[in-house]
Amino acid sequence: MSTDVLTPVLTDIWDAPRSWTLATYREHQGYRALARARTMSQADLVEMVKGSGLRGRGGAGFPTGLKWSFLPAPDGGPRYLVVNADESEPGTCKDVPLMMANPHVLVEGVAITSYAIGCDHAFIYLRGEVVHVYRRLLAAVREAKEAGLLGDLEITVHAGAGAYICGEETALLDSLEGRRGQPRLKPPFPAVAGLYARPTVVNNVESIASVPGIVLGGAEWFAGIGTARSSGHGIFSLSGHVTRPGQYEAPLGITLRELLELAGGVRAGHQLKFWTPGGSSTPLLTAEHLDVPLDYEGVAGAGSMLGTRALQIFDETVSVVRAVSRWIDFYKHESCGKCTPCREGTFWLQQIMHRLEDGKGTPADLQALSDIAGNILGRSFCALGDAAATPVQSGLKYFREEFEAGCHTPARELFPPAASTLH
Ligand code: NAD
Ligand code: SF4
Repeated sequence: MSTDVLTPVLTDIWDAPRSWTLATYREHQGYRALARARTMSQADLVEMVKGSGLRGRGGAGFPTGLKWSFLPAPDGGPRYLVVNADESEPGTCKDVPLMMANPHVLVEGVAITSYAIGCDHAFIYLRGEVVHVYRRLLAAVREAKEAGLLGDLEITVHAGAGAYICGEETALLDSLEGRRGQPRLKPPFPAVAGLYARPTVVNNVESIASVPGIVLGGAEWFAGIGTARSSGHGIFSLSGHVTRPGQYEAPLGITLRELLELAGGVRAGHQLKFWTPGGSSTPLLTAEHLDVPLDYEGVAGAGSMLGTRALQIFDETVSVVRAVSRWIDFYKHESCGKCTPCREGTFWLQQIMHRLEDGKGTPADLQALSDIAGNILGRSFCALGDAAATPVQSGLKYFREEFEAGCHTPARELFPPAASTLH
């Protein structure tokens, strides 16, 4: 794919002066899509989003229009839209910059989606730590309300308390209802019984922010970007050992090689060793995979997942054992404790990873690591358990010799931290 097909849509006004204000947004066609949407029927809007092929940008890639169409027929009671803005996956940094640079595209997307699904109260749930984003969203909602753009729609911006598990959609709903956030059994899916047990659409920030562009450009325009089954554009966040880390908007199906060209390559004098396509919950890939199309099918074909398009780049100075160990620390800390495979398994994984990191592992530890990860995967109550098993399994698959070295040599000796910029 040539980079001249790049279509900045979500990021088009990020560099404009005061890009976050209503005035700037309106200078760039802001809220025209909402006006157009209101001339359409609700059913036509749902069909348009279905026809665009937009897939959930939170990581799982579930078709957005299809999700909307799962809502049961109106029964006179409330139905809700909840925007999942609880971005927390290690390496993922797309929704926060989007909300900071252009909160109005999200507010407009919320207004269009609420109209399409017949909801009069929408929620945006984000991490409590990002106070600056919270304030920016509040200001944008207020501006839109005062300008008469939202009609009777109520938008509540809710700051959580910073638990990773509250990004899981049903834990998020529990948290929003005022309880400790823990995943609920699915089905029923939120579309049938979500917030306050009412029909609820839960969508990621970037999914909802893509809706105004689809309404203005049309379903065919969006479906014509990207690849046949992974249509449209998305924000790829590059971090780690890359010359110009940041957010790069590109059609799905672009490759890491092409993204690295845009980002100035791996830092000077170093080579790519391993990377994650979609944050730490997606299996590691290596330099062999530079030309894998970054769409749902392409990345799955390479044995990983597209996830949140959080491309963490690691060069040859990084110990895989140390990187995996840090991720396991994270998942162990964030495990909500509801189910045994994840609660106990992440604890055991952490013990072993720390021993390997210190060069005090044993061959039995390597076998146990593999067995424990295998028993967490597919047996946990929610995706967090699987996410913890993933870096261990893919690390062992591609870099087993580094785990074996953890039976006699500390990772710090094999990979002196001074050589790396990542510790
Ligand atoms: P999932 O596949 O279980 O569900 C995806 C969405 O589709 C959900 O909204 C779900 O309700 C809906 N859905 C699925 N089947 C349905 C059906 N039959 N009827 C109605 N709705 C249905 O995935 P998940 O557990 O929600 O999310 C996992 C993903 O989250 C991972 O792939 C990971 O990439 C991503 N993730 C993202 C972050 C972040 O910070 N953005 C953090 C952690 C994980
Ligand atoms: Fe909680 Fe982990 Fe089980 Fe998910 S997999 S319910 S985070 S213990």
